[in-house]
Amino acid sequence: EALAMSPGLRREGLRGALLSWDGQLEDDARLVVGIARTAAAHGARVLTRVRVTGLTGEGAEVRDELTGRTATIAARTVVNATGVWAGDLVDDIALRPSRGTHVVLRASSVPGLGTAVMAPVPQASNRFVFALPQPDGLVYVGLTDEPVDGPVPDVPEPTEAEVGFLLDVVGTVLQQPLDRSDVVGAYAGLRPLLDLPDADGSTADLSRRHAVLTSPGGVVSVVGGKLTTYRRMAQDAVDRAVVVGSLRAGRCRTADLPLLGAAPREQLARVEGPARLVRRHGTEAPDVLANARAHGLSDAEALAPLADTVPVTRAELLWGLTHEGALDVADLLDRRTRVGLVADDRARAVPVATDLSGLVVAGAPTHPDNSAG
Ligand SMILES: Cc1cc2nc3c(=O)[nH]c(=O)nc-3n(C[C@H](O)[C@H](O)[C@H](O)COP(=O)(O)OP(=O)(O)OC[C@H]3O[C@@H](n4cnc5c(N)ncnc54)[C@H](O)[C@@H]3O)c2cc1C
Repeated sequence: EALAMSPGLRREGLRGALLSWDGQLEDDARLVVGIARTAAAHGARVLTRVRVTGLTGEGAEVRDELTGRTATIAARTVVNATGVWAGDLVDDIALRPSRGTHVVLRASSVPGLGTAVMAPVPQASNRFVFALPQPDGLVYVGLTDEPVDGPVPDVPEPTEAEVGFLLDVVGTVLQQPLDRSDVVGAYAGLRPLLDLPDADGSTADLSRRHAVLTSPGGVVSVVGGKLTTYRRMAQDAVDRAVVVGSLRAGRCRTADLPLLGAAPREQLARVEGPARLVRRHGTEAPDVLANARAHGLSDAEALAPLADTVPVTRAELLWGLTHEGALDVADLLDRRTRVGLVADDRARAVPVATDLSGLVVAGAPTHPDNSAG
């Protein structure tokens, strides 16, 4: 049965398998952009490329990283949701990061991987390496767990040792051997470990649960958690911020507020639009295509893959520029899509992304006002 689902599994020594179901993201960049746009639709003002340089319970000092302009934003209550960097902005949170690295493979390097597969780490009782097939012809293999000392880096870098470890472990359950040349990309994230002040040097791993902490200065910090628990994290943080700021608040709508483009499966099935756009943009798919037409693209141009190995389309990049606040090529390829995870794919997509950025800049002034303050 396991081989029927994933014929690429190694046959020797395979006595059986456990099957379970889990949620899978189409693309984490799509989730983050969807949340930000939904917040904006409810009145939030979203400022990208703006760094908070100081935080108190009454507001923030900020710097626009594009212009260098600084400003002060006053607020009745302040939430610090800066992830593993939260301790940089408030004194009383000490987070110790632990690096989790993934490698990226082409699906063709892992033939017959019909499901996600978890490979046990040899000599460990409760550690696994997973291979997750992705919708865009890639497979992610992860995850490591390496303590990181010193200042928290902006972009954590995977090490060669981690890449080797992941290939070795996942290779133990695959029929076709993998080697370093199969790795087309690698990326890492930092899990927050919370230093517990009163316990004897112990730490709490917040990468599964989350914590809401209020500093003496009145800043509410939310750290840890999972993408899958983001609504609960937001609800807990905002509930605390309402109390700390002595605000009035209505009934909490966080749990069942749909994101822009979201709809029940049967409604999505009736949306008229290319399947790829519906998968990634839901009910907004027809608007994404109409937007490309409005910028003078034929449907064939709008919907063609950017390159053989890059199924992302011009319609999606244009939408990123006109509706998702993308300011440049890096936003488009690294933060509105995940093309940038594979350096070769990114290089192939850069000319198109550059042309489209020029097209939008030359046309209507669709960029959001990104000035701080
Ligand atoms: C290796 C790894 C694997 C994971 N796997 C999963 C998984 O499989 N499933 C799952 O559900 N969850 C997973 N998670 C957890 C998930 O990624 C986190 O829960 C989620 O990213 C936390 O969101 P956040 O908004 O709190 O923090 P972040 O996503 O870290 O966002 C914080 C943001 O604050 C910004 N920021 C920081 N400092 C400043 C500043 N001074 N000024 C302005 N902006 C600032 C950062 O640029 C960043 O955009 C994983 C996490 C890691 C590290």
